[in-house]
This record gives sequence, C-alpha cells and structure tokens, in this order.
Amino acid sequence: MSDLRELYQEVILDHHKRPRNFGPLAEANGHAEGRNPLCGDYLTVQVDVEGGVIKGVAFEGAGCAISRASASLMTDAVKGRPVEEAERMFAEFHRMVTSGVEDAVEESLGKLAVFCGVREFPSRVKCASLAWHTLHAALEAKGGTASTE
Ligand code: ZN
Repeated sequence: MSDLRELYQEVILDHHKRPRNFGPLAEANGHAEGRNPLCGDYLTVQVDVEGGVIKGVAFEGAGCAISRASASLMTDAVKGRPVEEAERMFAEFHRMVTSGVEDAVEESLGKLAVFCGVREFPSRVKCASLAWHTLHAALEAKGGTASTE
C-alpha cells in the first residue's frame, strides 16, 4: 500500500509541476469559475463542446498542489469524451473522495484514483473536487444546446 501511495504522490506532484491543458482555450464555448475559499484555490475551466462531445477543455488559476493536479488530471480524463460520460465520471470521482469506492470503480477512474486518499483529509476533499464542480458548471452554462444538436 505504501508503494501505491508513493506512486499517487508522484502523479500528483508531476501534474502540479507540469499541468496539462493549462492556459486559455481558443475555441471555448462554455466556461465557469470555481473557488474554494477554505484553501484559497481559484480555477476557471473552459470547454469546447460540439455535438455533445467535449472537444477541448482547459483550465487556468492558482491554488494548492492538489487542486492544480486534480484540474490537470480532470482535463486529461474528460477531453474527447461525451458530456454524459464526463458527468458520470464526476459523480464517481465525487463518491470516491467523499465516501470511498470499491476497487472496480477505482479501476474505471484510472489515474483519477490517485485522489482516493484525500477522503482521509476532509479539508482536502474540496481541493480535489473543485475542478470537477467547475467543469460541471461550465457544461451546465453551455446548457443542453450542445447535446441536442
Ligand atoms: Zn486547496
């Protein structure tokens, strides 16, 4: 288990230092801001949704290592996926960081499982889930238009 924890730490640090999909998105058609006042994390998430699929997603902002790594991993995970699938991942991710999951769900979340440890630290749960709440808001702001095209 400690090897796994070390691996998880490495993934989080790597995404914190070199976040993926960081910066403005040229073709964005939806965006939202997210704040976690408890920790001071601030994020904006931009999405480009076409035909119900997340063609592009990027984030900007500043915050702790966990919020930043989570945003980086989130964008990697949902890019190219249908909106419905991204929302399902959000639900699974939320369940994982709040109540824990069974191994099967942890497997389906892939790399996102690196955050399963935060459920032991309630104050960090919001850091880990901020990016997902912000993505959800960005997709909502986009409304149903993208999925009904
Ligand atoms: Zn934080």
